[in-house]
Amino acid sequence: MTSVTSRLRPFGTTVFAEMTALAREHDAINLSQGFPDTDGPAALLDAAARALREHDNQYAPLPGLPALRAAIAQRWSEGGNRAADPDSEVTVTSGCTEAIAATLLGLLEPGDEVILFEPFYDSYRVCVALADATPRFVQIRRAGNDHTFDPEELADAITPKTRAILINTPHNPTGAVFGQTGLESIARLCIEHDLIAIADEVYEHLVLDEDRQHISVASLPGMADRTVTLSSLGKTFSVTGWKIGWAIAPPDLTTAVRAAHQFLTYAIATPLQHAAAFALSDPECLAWLDTLRTQLRTNRDTLCVALADLGFDPILPHAGYFIMADHARVSAPKKIDGDVAMARAMTTEARVAVIPPSAFCVDPGLCRSQVRFAFCKQPRVIDEAITRLHEWIGVPRPENYPQPPSVSRNLKPD
Ligand code: GLN
Repeated sequence: MTSVTSRLRPFGTTVFAEMTALAREHDAINLSQGFPDTDGPAALLDAAARALREHDNQYAPLPGLPALRAAIAQRWSEGGNRAADPDSEVTVTSGCTEAIAATLLGLLEPGDEVILFEPFYDSYRVCVALADATPRFVQIRRAGNDHTFDPEELADAITPKTRAILINTPHNPTGAVFGQTGLESIARLCIEHDLIAIADEVYEHLVLDEDRQHISVASLPGMADRTVTLSSLGKTFSVTGWKIGWAIAPPDLTTAVRAAHQFLTYAIATPLQHAAAFALSDPECLAWLDTLRTQLRTNRDTLCVALADLGFDPILPHAGYFIMADHARVSAPKKIDGDVAMARAMTTEARVAVIPPSAFCVDPGLCRSQVRFAFCKQPRVIDEAITRLHEWIGVPRPENYPQPPSVSRNLKPD
């Protein structure tokens, strides 16, 4: 028996809490939940400490501190978007996760349909259910060493009840960065069917390859007036525990987001908003992002090469924190069936925790043969994870490890 409402019962405990708890229990290296194990730039942490001592520690204004909203709007227009009015178009939320909830709860009517790309970040589906709306799914599939979706499938998923398409670019868990052509096809459908685009762009600053570029959905012609763009400070500046996110949308859509936000959290930690405003406009903090990207790129390359040596089949991600890798050649000899069993075995036996990505799917087949590795960790932590996997799988670790960082063996983008 459970007291959990029927709306939430199907979703159980979020996979992130589950796998992090299992990792702690077994003293495993946690490559499951996506959080860095080093903090963001020192100047940002100093700004937070200063703000605690020097600024007021009472409720911030409901939509967010004016200085932070102005800084968000400034970065937004510098990123190729039209200017946003901080007063009527920017709302500060408790991480992107609250921005997702406030957007869906504020905008959807019962019975509305929302299109989600599968695999999807787990909270999307839950928030759609909380809004009494219905999700429809379009798959992102492996295409060679990349991931892509079929625009025709997207067009077919649209019905007279469709209200919104939720796009996540760069994409979690695949690390795909939606290109111009794919985004144009989404924009065309949004305009043709008068749909809202909800764009979760939390990994916007973590594109790792020069031949990929983050394109904001709202920057496409005809999209600014129908797009809610969501992002966060946590992923950009390695402070995921601060839970500072935001939604940028035209005034009418912003009114809907705020209608829900005011009763979900009302306002967000005041001193951390001061620090966030500082970081988004401080040249030193912005320059630190290059260091972060370089580190993430090195980690990604090292882990991809090692995973291939170990018998996994990783698909090189172009952005973000995660690598998706096929585990069949490792799990089959151990008679482990499916991603959930594999993730548990890796956590409890190899003591390297990963995410079973079927938690992000409704089609059980789509991700069953894959696991998701987070590489937003210190190099020595990644290195220790590689050693543990070599021991568990029984493949000797090459002596001259790590391999050269350039990932040329089958892993380059097509
Ligand atoms: N976004 C992070 C991930 O995908 C986790 C967020 C969370 O724990 N809620 O791992």
